[in-house]
Amino acid sequence: MTQSELKRETLQTLESLFHWFHRHPELALHEFETTRKIKAVLQEHDIDILPNPLDTGVFAKIGGKNSGPLIALRADIDALPIHEESGLTYSSEKPNQMHACGHDFHLTNLLATALELKKSEDQLNGTVLLIFQPAEEVDHGADKVVQTGILNGVEAIFGLHVNDELPTGVIGVKEGNLNAAVDRFFVTFNGKGGHAAHPEGANDVIVATGEFIGSAQTIVSRNVSPFEPSVVSITHIESGKTWNVLPNSALLEGTVRSYDKAVREKIKTRLQEVTRGIAATNGISGEFKWGDGAPAVVNDGRLTRLVEAVARENHFEVVNLEPSMGGEDFSSYQQIIPGTFFNVGVNSPYPVHNSKFKVDPKAFETSVPLFIALVKAYFEGGRHDDETLLS
Ligand SMILES: [Zn+2]
Ligand SMILES: [Zn+2]
Repeated sequence: MTQSELKRETLQTLESLFHWFHRHPELALHEFETTRKIKAVLQEHDIDILPNPLDTGVFAKIGGKNSGPLIALRADIDALPIHEESGLTYSSEKPNQMHACGHDFHLTNLLATALELKKSEDQLNGTVLLIFQPAEEVDHGADKVVQTGILNGVEAIFGLHVNDELPTGVIGVKEGNLNAAVDRFFVTFNGKGGHAAHPEGANDVIVATGEFIGSAQTIVSRNVSPFEPSVVSITHIESGKTWNVLPNSALLEGTVRSYDKAVREKIKTRLQEVTRGIAATNGISGEFKWGDGAPAVVNDGRLTRLVEAVARENHFEVVNLEPSMGGEDFSSYQQIIPGTFFNVGVNSPYPVHNSKFKVDPKAFETSVPLFIALVKAYFEGGRHDDETLLS
């Protein structure tokens, strides 16, 4: 299928679905209405819905009439706690909830792909598992999906994200590192407060906090190889209430971004050691807590080259993406099966997570045919002019 072959009727259905989802955003793990709507559309088109033990999200499948591989297509479905100011006629109907990351685009794209694939289901030489995943922004939605076991037997997974910087319909791909691992840390220092005029009678947590900030910032520059991308950012500090009292406690919070597993572990260990060391030298206690977030998105080479080849074959423009220190929980799937995550340009004047973010819906005219062609190319065992792609 090429761009011109997406029928007017399909485009109209797609547009009205997209508007519906955009008007009805729901936050992570609260995607109830969204889940019901996705199921209703799938049922209306006789697409098999699979059991899902999670409260939100939908699993479905197409094909399987003929033998062949099982592959998965994933779309995330959650929105953000942002008050929409895009000015769109189909803006969010809910205050402080908005599809500001394009997940409404992703899920409509997957639904439209499913509806098109369903039309020629008997000719599909394999099975497509559709994953409408809840809670990408927060709350580890992809991990929850993986834990259901729905990916057992799946041999490859594909996912896409809208890209506000790329012109409409331009496809962005990247082999290897694309999105960093996202972790979170908390440090609490507890000391002995006292009079600001008599620090000798206290154990000052503010001085310790200052030392921690300085030392934490040497981890990337002194403990990690310059060839390994990583960043430590301290983003939240709380301590004290007034000018003449040394407080009893201080809290710091921040995030670590990295790609390499060993680097990730090393930064965690060093932050722990720095907390302990600074607490000891200041005669206070220090507590360190670490919250594992999504691992790094590292795209499979063969699958990425397949996306690129199929896009070019369909005359879509393809560019190489730069790796980002931002996260994406598609990586949870890549921990167990090969996958590739790519982008489609939606030419937004404002970035994702901005209250004025808006996608150009014309991008569907690229993304839907590309997904369909990708599934078919995979089932054919790669493309005819490069049979080594999936051998
Ligand atoms: Zn987002
Ligand atoms: Zn997103």
